Amino acid sequence: MTQRVGIIGWPLTTTFSPAMHNAAFAALGMDWHYDRMAIPPDIVRLGILEPQRHGYIGLNVTIPHKEEALRYVMPDELARAVGAVNTIDLRTMTGTNTDVYGLITDLRAHDVALEGRRVVVLGAGGAARAAVVGLTGAGALVVVVNRSMERARAMLANLSLLNPRLNAEVLTLDDAVEAGPIDLLVNATPVGMYPAVDESPWVQGVPFPRGVTVYDMIYRPAQTRLMQQAEQHGGRAIGGLGMLVHQGAAAFKLWTGVEPPVEVMFEAARRELAAQ
Ligand code: NAP
Repeated sequence: MTQRVGIIGWPLTTTFSPAMHNAAFAALGMDWHYDRMAIPPDIVRLGILEPQRHGYIGLNVTIPHKEEALRYVMPDELARAVGAVNTIDLRTMTGTNTDVYGLITDLRAHDVALEGRRVVVLGAGGAARAAVVGLTGAGALVVVVNRSMERARAMLANLSLLNPRLNAEVLTLDDAVEAGPIDLLVNATPVGMYPAVDESPWVQGVPFPRGVTVYDMIYRPAQTRLMQQAEQHGGRAIGGLGMLVHQGAAAFKLWTGVEPPVEVMFEAARRELAAQ
C-alpha cells in the first residue's frame, strides 16, 4: 500500500515540496507519495486530523498555519522554542520545526562561521523566529532589525521566556550598522521576493557594509536585489533554496527513517524554480 505524506497551507499556490519529496521517493524506489492540500485557515485542525484518519504518515505545515498547528500536536522542544511547527508525525501526533535545521545546515554547508559572530536578522515573523533560535543556539550574537520594532521586541521577549540564555537584541538598522561590523546578514522578510524583485529589505540611506555575507531565505528569484547589493560591496551572497531542501530532507528522514537523497531533492527544487 502506498504510504502518504503531504503539505498543508493556504493558499499554497507555489510549493516545491511535492516535487522534492516525490523525486526522492522515486529515486529510492519507495512506494510513497507526497500530496499538496490547500487548507483554509478556519479548518487547520481538520486539515491535520483528516489526513491522520486516512492513514497519512506525516505532514509539512506552511504559511500561514505553522503557529496554529502547535495547538493540535505535541510540539518537541525545538518547535516550542520557535513557537511554530512545520513538520508533523501523524503516527505520534508530535510536531517539530525543521526550518531551524534547514537554515543552520545550509549555512554550515557554505562554511559560514557562526560561533561568536555578529549576525543581523531582518524580520520578526516565523522565519525570523527560527533563525534567532538556530543562530543563538549555534553561538552567534544576534541583532534583530524589523520594520515594526515593537513586534521584534515582543518576539524576543517571547523567545527569551522559552530560551532563557538567548543572546539577542533589537536595534534599528542604523544602530545595528554603527554598533560594529556585521559578519552575517539574514533576510527573513519576503521583501525582494518574486514578483517584486527590485525591492530590497536594506533601508535606503543606510550605508551597506563591506564584505558582509548575506543569507537570503528567499529562493525566487535565485539572486535577489539584497544578494546583488552584498556582492557589489565585496561580500558574499547565498540564496534560500538550500534551507528549503534541508528542511525537507529532515522531514523525509523523520517520516521514512531513510537517509534522504539530498542531491535528488536539490535537483527537483532547481527544476521547479527554473519552470516558474
Ligand atoms: P511572516 O511571518 O509574514 O513575517 C514577515 C516579516 O517580514 C515581518 O517581520 C514583516 O515586518 C517583514 N516585512 C514584510 N513586508 C515588509 C516590508 N515591505 N518591509 C519591511 N519588512 C517587511 O513571514 P515568514 O513566514 O517569517 O517568512 C518570511 C520569508 O522567509 C518569506 O519570504 C518566506 O518565503 C521565507 N522563508 C523561506 C524558507 C526557506 O526554506 N528558504 C523557510 C521559511 C520562510 P512587520 O513585522 O513590520 O510586519
